[in-house]
Amino acid sequence: MVLSLKITDLAAREILDCRGNPTVQVDVIVDNDILGRADVPAGRSTGANEAHELRDGGERFQGMGVTKAVENVLKEIKPAVVGMKVTEQRALDQRLIALDGTPNKSRLGANAILGVSLAAARAAATALKTPLYKYVNLNAHVLPVPLLNYINGGEHASNDLEFQEFCIFPVGAQTFKEALEIGSAVYEELRAIIIDKYGKIAANVGDEGGFAPPIVKVREALDNLVLAVKRSGFEEKIVYGLDCAATHIYDPETNKYTLEGEELSTDELLGFYKELLKTYPIASMEDPFSEDDIDGFVKGTQELGIQIVGDDFFCTDPDRIRERAKLGAGNALLWKVNQIGTLSEALDAAEMAYRNNMGVMVSERSGETEDPMIADLVVGINAGQIKTGAQVRSERVAKYNRLLQIEEELGDTAVYAGQNFKIPF
Ligand code: PEP
Ligand code: MG
Repeated sequence: MVLSLKITDLAAREILDCRGNPTVQVDVIVDNDILGRADVPAGRSTGANEAHELRDGGERFQGMGVTKAVENVLKEIKPAVVGMKVTEQRALDQRLIALDGTPNKSRLGANAILGVSLAAARAAATALKTPLYKYVNLNAHVLPVPLLNYINGGEHASNDLEFQEFCIFPVGAQTFKEALEIGSAVYEELRAIIIDKYGKIAANVGDEGGFAPPIVKVREALDNLVLAVKRSGFEEKIVYGLDCAATHIYDPETNKYTLEGEELSTDELLGFYKELLKTYPIASMEDPFSEDDIDGFVKGTQELGIQIVGDDFFCTDPDRIRERAKLGAGNALLWKVNQIGTLSEALDAAEMAYRNNMGVMVSERSGETEDPMIADLVVGINAGQIKTGAQVRSERVAKYNRLLQIEEELGDTAVYAGQNFKIPF
């Protein structure tokens, strides 16, 4: 049968994410019976400039319902896209953007728009009988280094640790599969250390599956992680990464950061980072300064000599990346598709980063579902790095399992980014 590849129907529903909050799931139907389905993730430590997530308000689900976004898919988006060719991703995304008509997708909701955009990509790949990562890029072959987030703080945990994520990068593994084996060994050592030092109850985990012990000091968290790595025997194969998520410790009134009971200026915080780097082999820091602290990002990028990743700072927005990259503020992009709201704009953001000699780290949101989409996308854009939590919660495991499949499928053509995670070519 010759396919028309036209979108013939759309469905949408409210489902739950890993925190039990509602989120949007969209089905795009092509040629009446080919299904592409996608779930929209949701952040908690969000940036001010992210595309707008439409929530119902009111009492149901503490105001977090998404029935309005679902209704927007069914009543407004569906009539506008039925009949379009599903392989015309850019035209489809442009139609969604124009239909919404606001700069931040606040009328229809970025969650409604992104659900359609991602489900269309999946439907197109399915219709063409191509794995999604190959549909995105016929040269897709780089398996990412996983940033395994083993200690959680900030807005992702109920402890008083201010930085949000303490990660290991198994850069010395030969394959993605081996990276996960190394990660598992470290995680189990860390569990034992935490139980030993803080008691059994402290081995409970945060939103992304990392431990959330009652630690306040950054160095104490790092010391535990370093000890676990030593005991695992994989010290030579691991470097460290932090998500400081500093937007959330910054007070715009006083222009200061609160860290471990002290109020720090940008320069003082920079000094804190310099001291940390003397002790620990940290290769990457995400949002070391707040989303509008351009001065901090410029100095950090110049003076720390490591990967400086912008999350809230860039918001996966090609224009923000262009402007800020020109200033030398940051040298890597945290790539979150729902920060911008369509797949094509997110691909533009990655392209913009690459053209500015920046790394790209593909990221989950803290509110995820079992949809493994970003596993295909990280290989599709040959990013070389993925941040998707610890491999102990199913919504995170789904991504790792998909990457294991992809690595097997690519066979000898697969390249594990390893030490070259920032520029894996
Ligand atoms: C992050 O800050 O990098 C993150 C993944 O958290 P959230 O999804 O809550 O923004
Ligand atoms: Mg972040």
